[in-house]
Amino acid sequence: MLGQSHTSFRDSVDRMFTHAASLLDLPDGLEEKIRVCNSTYTVRFGVRMRGSIHTFVGYRSVHSEHMEPVKGGIRYADTVNQNEVEALAALMTYKCALVEVPFGGSKGGLCIDPRQYSEEELERITRRFTYELSRRSLISPSQNVPAPDMGTGEREMAWMADAYKRLHPDDIDARGCVTGKPVSFGGIQGRVEATGRGVQYAIHEFFRHPEAMKAAGLEGTLDGKRVIVQGLGNVGFHAAQFLSDSDGAKIIAVAERDGAVMNPDGLNIAELHKHIKETGGVAGFDGAKDYTQNSLAALELECDILIPAAVEGVINLENAENINTKLVVEAANGPVTAEADEILRKRGIVIIPDMYANAGGVTVSYFEWVKNLTHIRFGRMERREQEARTQLLVSELERLSSDKSLGWSLTKDFKDRYLKGASELELVRSGLDDTMRGAFQSMAEVWYSDDKVADLRTAAYVVSIRRIAESYQAMGL
Ligand code: GLU
Repeated sequence: MLGQSHTSFRDSVDRMFTHAASLLDLPDGLEEKIRVCNSTYTVRFGVRMRGSIHTFVGYRSVHSEHMEPVKGGIRYADTVNQNEVEALAALMTYKCALVEVPFGGSKGGLCIDPRQYSEEELERITRRFTYELSRRSLISPSQNVPAPDMGTGEREMAWMADAYKRLHPDDIDARGCVTGKPVSFGGIQGRVEATGRGVQYAIHEFFRHPEAMKAAGLEGTLDGKRVIVQGLGNVGFHAAQFLSDSDGAKIIAVAERDGAVMNPDGLNIAELHKHIKETGGVAGFDGAKDYTQNSLAALELECDILIPAAVEGVINLENAENINTKLVVEAANGPVTAEADEILRKRGIVIIPDMYANAGGVTVSYFEWVKNLTHIRFGRMERREQEARTQLLVSELERLSSDKSLGWSLTKDFKDRYLKGASELELVRSGLDDTMRGAFQSMAEVWYSDDKVADLRTAAYVVSIRRIAESYQAMGL
């Protein structure tokens, strides 16, 4: 599944980090301390099923504990390996710092193709994996909070939350041990769509910046812009749907596992998504004008915005010269290798980097976690109850926002809406929009003002490394 690359995912992330860190004046040794993964736990556990014992390999990597809990998803895929999990954990650290959610970085994975197992089997495997993680405090509301990633979703998070609660019946905050739970089980409205929504808000903010638009050679609004999306999973689907339905962009091609479908007039994303659910792939979709089995070929078609939303390494040394777009939006983690990044940059293609573009998921995870810990419902409710509870929540959020080390600022808009009794979904969306705008502005400031910072990714790393370095220095390490 991994694309062709001459460096591993971990090396690729490290190279980008090292380039940005070299532009900063960090105290001796701090660069190395920030860069390395603190620890990676590997577990092999057995589950009895289908008449024998099946052994599974899982990982949970903790990249940086400069803030706790550490945060990051759990991926289910048969390609999961230690190098990948460590690269993803590192990206979580940088991502959280960039969007100012007060978490360190972590990531987990289970080496399994979930499509080969029944729901009942997956539940048993997930509960057993949770038990293994819990024994090492690698799932805990105060220390390590997993979330969905590729191959996992609300269902797996509910199993994990329930398994954790059974192991820790006295933990009143047990629900905050994972995010991305179903709304009926301690989740928050808008979490499922959050990463895709964040991608949309990121592009909106980009389009508000004339300098950024000029660098990419883009003009006007999103209306009519030609977009190609790779991967119509949770992130790609929501991003494509929001961009086409509310912004008028034309999704001219979608690449999936089995191939790619094209239509220069724009594909109907809701129908295509339904078709994939029913048939398992894009082949045979009657809203398409063209189909090719070679799904990566779709990445080379001419478009205005290319959104890789599946796995790492899909834009690499083999195809970077052929990418024919103005703007790459990294909805996936690590879709462009370090080598390809250099080539695209030289060719004048602008990249909105992963740690910013896909930060919507962890941002809304933060809202969910705060909701779980405060034990207060977000959003509209009966007036008297609302007044009492809003006051409590607002003071809690103010406490968090006044603590600089938490790095979260409560926006006026967010507070006003809450006091007016906006619905939970409105609050989540407004908080997310505000976060995405703020993070872009801090990246853009560095990008525009520092000659040595040639691109948005380096700017994102610079902002993020500075904040992490400040935490480490304040901590006295
Ligand atoms: N897996 C998502 C990511 O890569 C979400 C992580 C989270 O919500 O903790 O950002």
